[in-house]
Amino acid sequence: MAKAFEQPIYVTRPLLPDITDVTERIKKVWDSKQLTNFGAQHDELSRQLENYLEAEHISMFSNGTMALLLGLKALKLTGEVITTPFTFPATVQALDWNNLTPVFCDIDPETFNIDADKIEALITEKTSAILGVHVFGNPCDVEKIQAIADKHNLKVIYDGAHAFGSKINGEPISSFGDMTMFSFHATKLFNTIEGGALTYNDPELGRQLDLLRNFGLANAEEVVLSGLNAKMNEVQAGVGIEVLQVVEGERRKRHTIKKAYEENLSDIDGIRILTGLEDESSSYQYFVIEIDEAVFGQSRDTVHQELQKYKVFARKYFYPLCSDFEWYSELPSARPENLPNAKRAVQQVLAMPYYGDLPIESVKAICEIIRELHVAQESVSQL
Ligand SMILES: *Cc1c(COP(=O)(O)O)cnc(C)c1O
Repeated sequence: MAKAFEQPIYVTRPLLPDITDVTERIKKVWDSKQLTNFGAQHDELSRQLENYLEAEHISMFSNGTMALLLGLKALKLTGEVITTPFTFPATVQALDWNNLTPVFCDIDPETFNIDADKIEALITEKTSAILGVHVFGNPCDVEKIQAIADKHNLKVIYDGAHAFGSKINGEPISSFGDMTMFSFHATKLFNTIEGGALTYNDPELGRQLDLLRNFGLANAEEVVLSGLNAKMNEVQAGVGIEVLQVVEGERRKRHTIKKAYEENLSDIDGIRILTGLEDESSSYQYFVIEIDEAVFGQSRDTVHQELQKYKVFARKYFYPLCSDFEWYSELPSARPENLPNAKRAVQQVLAMPYYGDLPIESVKAICEIIRELHVAQESVSQL
């Protein structure tokens, strides 16, 4: 029988560079006496990320949600935006705050991303864009989505909060669509404590975003539009520079952990690994499984609860479904009968503990708990 862990194991831990490196970096900020408003750290991180993400252009923000909210604003969208219900609340809340109506499209049962084959049926004369999410770092069907957008003259924005540094057939994920948002929240692979960015190809968007994230100030005496305050400060950027130094090492460690999970889970009936991509295709952001109750013998919720008894805190990511938010209850596209795959996904997905310092022995022990739940069920059904 598996034993409970002595210390709780959480789904993630922030990637923390050496504190002496961070302290030296913050000392530079102190010496400069510039704490925010696009200083040296901001500009350096911006250049480094442009390189790392192979982005044409990048703008950084106080967090990913503000990046997305202002990115939608910069694209001057109106009316309806087709998106997925299987995402973090921020994706759809960024639409709400732009007075845009989300039109929920069901997800692909394999990738759990927006089902590109179901988008066209949802387009009306009010549709202005498609907002896809690269869920768990698995890329959306970018080719098909772009073809639909071109045919109907729509913008394409990606929420790439899970897709930092990942590639599609060798192409950087930031190069698809009109814009991609990245989140640098502490729980994401790359973090600036809080933070986010947009990448895009059109330099005109950069000028709009500069205004939008800084009160619409064109210069000290001219306010040209109604903006917000969404600047990344110097301490955030400085921490980011140090975190970026250790990202590659973290990806390598997570690769080993991923292999250990795969070795110990892939032969269990009713468990499917959703985050199978490797090397440059993977963001190494999450390790996520789908539990098919009919085959595995236990529901995802039971597995989630049982793991807690062993002090393992996996996460039902994403739960609840965004289309179930009370304020969308009048939307026809939010009706459960239109979203059968999303309805199923939200009951079956579990994000497992995943961070570089998670010992391989712990991974094996976690998998053993899951295996015992399955075996216990099998012996019951044979009675
Ligand atoms: C984390 C996350 C966000 C929000 O990013 P913040 O930087 O926390 O504002 C948005 N969308 C998805 C899919 C996320 O996982």
